[in-house]
Amino acid sequence: MFWGRTPIDKLIDGYRNFHRTTFARQRRRFEQLAAKGQKPKILIISCSDSRVSPSMVFDTPPGSIFVARNIANIVPPYNPDGGPRSIGAAAEYAIKVLKVSDIIIKGHARCGGVHALINNGSGLPQNDFLKPWVEVAAPALKLLPPNFESLGEAEKRRVSEHAVIQNSIMNLSGYPWVRDRLEAGTLRIHGWHFDFEHGKLTRLEHESGEWVEVK
Ligand SMILES: [Zn+2]
Repeated sequence: MFWGRTPIDKLIDGYRNFHRTTFARQRRRFEQLAAKGQKPKILIISCSDSRVSPSMVFDTPPGSIFVARNIANIVPPYNPDGGPRSIGAAAEYAIKVLKVSDIIIKGHARCGGVHALINNGSGLPQNDFLKPWVEVAAPALKLLPPNFESLGEAEKRRVSEHAVIQNSIMNLSGYPWVRDRLEAGTLRIHGWHFDFEHGKLTRLEHESGEWVEVK
């Protein structure tokens, strides 16, 4: 027996509020999206974390971003014959059907999945899927700086989260139909990191390899 409002009650409240405000204001847009189909130009691959929803962070209208989310924003290596296929399917649809021009790998601060990877699964419960999933990103460990062990905890977390994003970019760039479009100049891949505690977005600059704050 529940006393007070349950999490589901609060979710239904949110839906009613959405229906009254956002949906009412954008009804025409939703009708057009139904009639003409979606044509988002951006795919965002984000962590599942409840604090970093892409549509919240980027304040996007309906129909503008195609989103795939998983624990720790991991893109597995190209392997159509085995291994996890969810991200490959989302990327394939976004690229071949929607013809997106940009893909953003969006990591974030205090990522529990990255923390589990760096600490060899510590902090995870007895699990069937979690540890094998985060270990898909194990090659990211090779991207950590040589002085990693001497860094403070906050810095360790940050460079680990950056390394997982960079590893996902490298893996995604190896998908043949991604590589073709990168070489043709019709697709770009970006690495972004969102620090929800400070509301700070940083992005990886391709030339310098530096992470620069978006002002
Ligand atoms: Zn995360």
